[in-house]
Amino acid sequence: MSITRIAVERLSKSFGQIHVLSEVGFEIEAGEMVALIGPSGSGKSTLLRHLVGLTSANRHSGSRVHLMDREVQRDGRLLRGSRAQRCRCGYIFQQFNLVGRLSVLTNVLIGRLGSMPRWRALLGRFSEEERIRARQALARVGLAELAEQRANTLSGGQMQRVAIARVLMQDAEVIFADEPIASLDPRSAREVMDILQRINLEDGRTVLVSLHQVDYARRYCSRAIALKRGHLYYDGPTEGLTEARLQALYENAGFDEP
Ligand code: ADP
Ligand code: MG
Repeated sequence: MSITRIAVERLSKSFGQIHVLSEVGFEIEAGEMVALIGPSGSGKSTLLRHLVGLTSANRHSGSRVHLMDREVQRDGRLLRGSRAQRCRCGYIFQQFNLVGRLSVLTNVLIGRLGSMPRWRALLGRFSEEERIRARQALARVGLAELAEQRANTLSGGQMQRVAIARVLMQDAEVIFADEPIASLDPRSAREVMDILQRINLEDGRTVLVSLHQVDYARRYCSRAIALKRGHLYYDGPTEGLTEARLQALYENAGFDEP
């Protein structure tokens, strides 16, 4: 029996009068690769940001978030011990978030900082063993030969692969990726999705990836969670995303302004 890795209950978030998330709930088992879809503005990024504790739900909303079977957020409060759980989660951004003037290898090594003692993180000194692991992570994403290059000389697709190597270096069990292929050309997008799929299948890492294009969700994920105006609109097999469902998902997608 696999244990539940991620559980979200009644997650509600408002910014002023706008309800960005309304009582969203779902569970994701260890080893799943799930697509998060929905129109622009439907709340995908906000949901992912809650999962890693970058933001917290409305107070007294009954919201709860579990990571790796441990409650990390309740009623809009981050719980003690949540940081350690979040260190087990890697985050991949649409805009890569690399340090451009540092080498590719150093950018990968940065993945270690979160789990280092503070004094070591401050010194930023990495052991030979860590350097070997970082090179292995780069080889895994097909960029071993670019280790010494400055990160800002890479293409977008290569940068995103470095970001994945950084998450591998972090040894994250769960990977949250927020539109990781939205700014990539189709070929680079496929390469990035192939790598995410491989680390899901081969390492058993859980992946929740938000995707703008439903085609990619269908191709790479067996399950999709769809948000519409902050409500859970669909949670099920990607084959269940019929044309009629998708049309309804994308029509009148804007938020009701107060
Ligand atoms: P998606 O990622 O699906 O495009 P987002 O989660 O980024 O959607 O945004 C959902 C809604 O929440 C949008 O209407 C956005 O303007 C609003 N929103 C997100 N973050 C904030 C914020 N910090 N303050 C106010 N509104 C926000
Ligand atoms: Mg977004």
